[in-house]
Amino acid sequence: MDVNALRVNGKRLQSTLEDMAKIGGTPAGGVQRLTLSDEDKQARDLFVSWLKELNLEITIDEMGNIFGRRPGKNNDLPPVMSGSHVDSQPKGGRFDGILGVMGPLEVLRTLNENNIETERPIVIVDWTNEEGSRFAPAMMSSGVWAGALDRDWIYNRTDINGKRFEDELIRIGYKTEVPCKKFPVHCYYEYHIEQGPMLEREGKTIGAPKGILCLHWYDIYLTGEANQVGPTPMAGRHDALCAAAEMILKVNELPERMGGNMVATVGEIQNGPNSRNIIPDKVHFTVDIRSWDDDLGIRAWEKVRADFEAIAERRGCPIRIEETWRVEHSPFDEKLVQRVLDCADMLGYSSLRMVSGAGHDASYMNQVCPTAMVFVPSIGGRSHVEVEKTTWEDCEAGANVLLHAMLQSASETD
Ligand SMILES: [Zn+2]
Repeated sequence: MDVNALRVNGKRLQSTLEDMAKIGGTPAGGVQRLTLSDEDKQARDLFVSWLKELNLEITIDEMGNIFGRRPGKNNDLPPVMSGSHVDSQPKGGRFDGILGVMGPLEVLRTLNENNIETERPIVIVDWTNEEGSRFAPAMMSSGVWAGALDRDWIYNRTDINGKRFEDELIRIGYKTEVPCKKFPVHCYYEYHIEQGPMLEREGKTIGAPKGILCLHWYDIYLTGEANQVGPTPMAGRHDALCAAAEMILKVNELPERMGGNMVATVGEIQNGPNSRNIIPDKVHFTVDIRSWDDDLGIRAWEKVRADFEAIAERRGCPIRIEETWRVEHSPFDEKLVQRVLDCADMLGYSSLRMVSGAGHDASYMNQVCPTAMVFVPSIGGRSHVEVEKTTWEDCEAGANVLLHAMLQSASETD
């Protein structure tokens, strides 16, 4: 058959996504499928059952990453790989991550039913804990696989209830003895919703990011002095929450102070003892800094860190700072980015060259092999929320672009 005429089955992709959205589905239409939770396990089990239907060679490694391999004509050639994550944010959306796993699944189903044999093998992957909201940092298991993060450090990370990553991985039955270690890959494509407003604003269907911003995560711990709020005069208090409040605004002001080209956010805070009539004495909050310019991100951090120390000193609230995680900005392979744009063109979809402000497993994959991403619009630019939405037509369009980009890469013999 004429391979260029090949298309995915949009209806099948839709029903697959709808089946997945039932697992951890929330009343407001989102999903809550935190990594290594019972819902994550259910989604994994369903995914593995679908891989089995396609007769793929399934491997689960010691980080719980799930790989499904479809042989090619020449199995000595490194495979073309595509995937993303099935875990979600707390009260997250039904497209983030899962579209990038169900998309290549639909590609493989299309290849199987049309008896298409590719030159190279194709591997589909679900990476464990991309979100990083239950266990920080994010993109953990692609990070270990790529050799950028240490497995045992990750195993010992704990969630807010003190549960260890490794124990939870064992509990859901997804820890094996297979080493989590990179193997040769020809190229990697990740299909994802945009999670921002650019495609919708420009009226385009397909986005091809030239790369991903750097991502820097910090954890701040403040100690104050607890006391009864009534009898304790305002002067001389050591209120850890007030110190945090000043610091949070410093983070918010940081991008403007640095001349733009970056974003900075405090998204998580714990206040202790969290009682209306006790002066707060223990506060933890997070800082997230992103930019295309790694140095700017570091200089910004140094500035705000100095502010934090000055505020802590003035308020008499000792501060402990953990520099939790840094991923450098990730410029994608220009040839693959162009291929995504060309495939969109061939299929009659409008497209846009852009950047990704969101982090993805593609960041770590880009350290191992040529990498590119396929984006489709997020309605209203909303993501990591229950109202996150992408039209079924756009889901289908992105899967068709993925299909043809993967087919072209899988036909390359050198
Ligand atoms: Zn995602």
